[in-house]
Amino acid sequence: FRVDSSAWMIDLYAQGNLPPYTVARKFVEEFRKPIAPPQAGLSSKETTAYIEKVHPWLKVLEKSGLMGMGGAGVPAAKKWTDVWLESRAEKYIVANGDESEPATFKDRELILQKAHLLVEGMLLAGLMTNATAGIIFIRHEYPEQIQAARSAIEQARQVGICGKSILGTERDYDLEVFVSPGGYICGEQSALIEAIENKRAQPRNRPPELGTNGLWNCPTVVNNIETLSWTPAILHNGADWYINQNRAPYKGRRFFSISGDVHKPGVFEVPIGLTLGELIDLAGGVQGGELGAVATSGPSGGFLPASFRIAPNEAQPNPEPVSLRSLPLDLTVFRNKGRELKIGYDLMLGAGLVVYNNTRDMLQAARNAAQFFRNESCGKCVPCRIGSQKMVELGTGLLAEREDRKPQDMPDEDCTAPATSPGDIARTVKDMKRALELTSICGLGTSVSNPIASYLQFFAPKPEGERKSR
Ligand code: SF4
Repeated sequence: FRVDSSAWMIDLYAQGNLPPYTVARKFVEEFRKPIAPPQAGLSSKETTAYIEKVHPWLKVLEKSGLMGMGGAGVPAAKKWTDVWLESRAEKYIVANGDESEPATFKDRELILQKAHLLVEGMLLAGLMTNATAGIIFIRHEYPEQIQAARSAIEQARQVGICGKSILGTERDYDLEVFVSPGGYICGEQSALIEAIENKRAQPRNRPPELGTNGLWNCPTVVNNIETLSWTPAILHNGADWYINQNRAPYKGRRFFSISGDVHKPGVFEVPIGLTLGELIDLAGGVQGGELGAVATSGPSGGFLPASFRIAPNEAQPNPEPVSLRSLPLDLTVFRNKGRELKIGYDLMLGAGLVVYNNTRDMLQAARNAAQFFRNESCGKCVPCRIGSQKMVELGTGLLAEREDRKPQDMPDEDCTAPATSPGDIARTVKDMKRALELTSICGLGTSVSNPIASYLQFFAPKPEGERKSR
């Protein structure tokens, strides 16, 4: 399918019919020379005052509150400021266009339809942080997007805003596209940098952080495609323009891809704070039954049922059921709701959502997700390498038990785990979750148990006495 982008506010053209690279051009015309970072030894108050005085564009970005759209939600201004403050001669900007999380495909559409915004965002990031060069990392399954990004870079070179002596100044800053060697883990930002350095794509132990020791051990900004693509519009129209695209009290807009059991799967740009139900309605509503569950961060965050109860607490000894449709699509809301649930893991809100109708087999879905993460584990950490296999075995054991078969007789999995009761499995999953959180280098390890854990929490048949608490 192709996504209709005519309603997207991200495009500068909606705001005044500007030709591409106008905002980057304006920055270079205003600041013909690189803006020097402060000398070392200033207090944080003095540094803030210095930034306000000499780097007003950075303040606009900070005021807008634009957050990273890759999942962690780190403010874009923080990453840019950290790298600008580093006075090293070599610094880099990297755009993360790996987008390997199942069901996440918003960057695919953004690059294809608005590559000039990504390239202009890369130019602004480089010019505003005094970076040496920028690299757009795109997954190899995106040939049209690779072509679109390369064409946009060439267009920028032709108008003199990219390459040597930008607009006749002494500034040099060029861009290139790096095609990912492939694999889910390449989307992890430090693994992606290893891949660019022609090493095996495995996440790095951190610290040191990428802001000081990134690509080639130099200060590096790694931003998601969408984050970079928002920056030209924000820096042109101002922080308030972005903030006011909101659904109060939330700030700004963002993109979601939504798929699964909906009539119109696709990519939607929406105000932050729109409810999950409204997003499902934009996608044409649930297909093939009632709403059964949603994976709100691809399968990494597990599955949430159409309604659930938070754990009883002092303020709410008998909490009312929470409708999944009513939840505002905001990272903080999801994190807080996860804490109220007390399910032992964070609720996650990613950029790709999968809707399941109430006829879907959530145990199969959970086991499939566990298999995917097991297959994509890079194997660097022993607990993730072994634990991800164990998750598959537990899921297969549950399936075998349900079908009254032996695990080793299950057709598509080499599994020798004994079939134990859901209660025993839940305890094992909880213990493993804790161990994985303490020992994994990256997010794959910390979230690998979520699909099976969420199945056990919300969808597994429970003994009679436990049903009331669900
Ligand atoms: Fe690799 Fe898993 Fe360790 Fe991440 S947690 S570095 S995927 S082994």
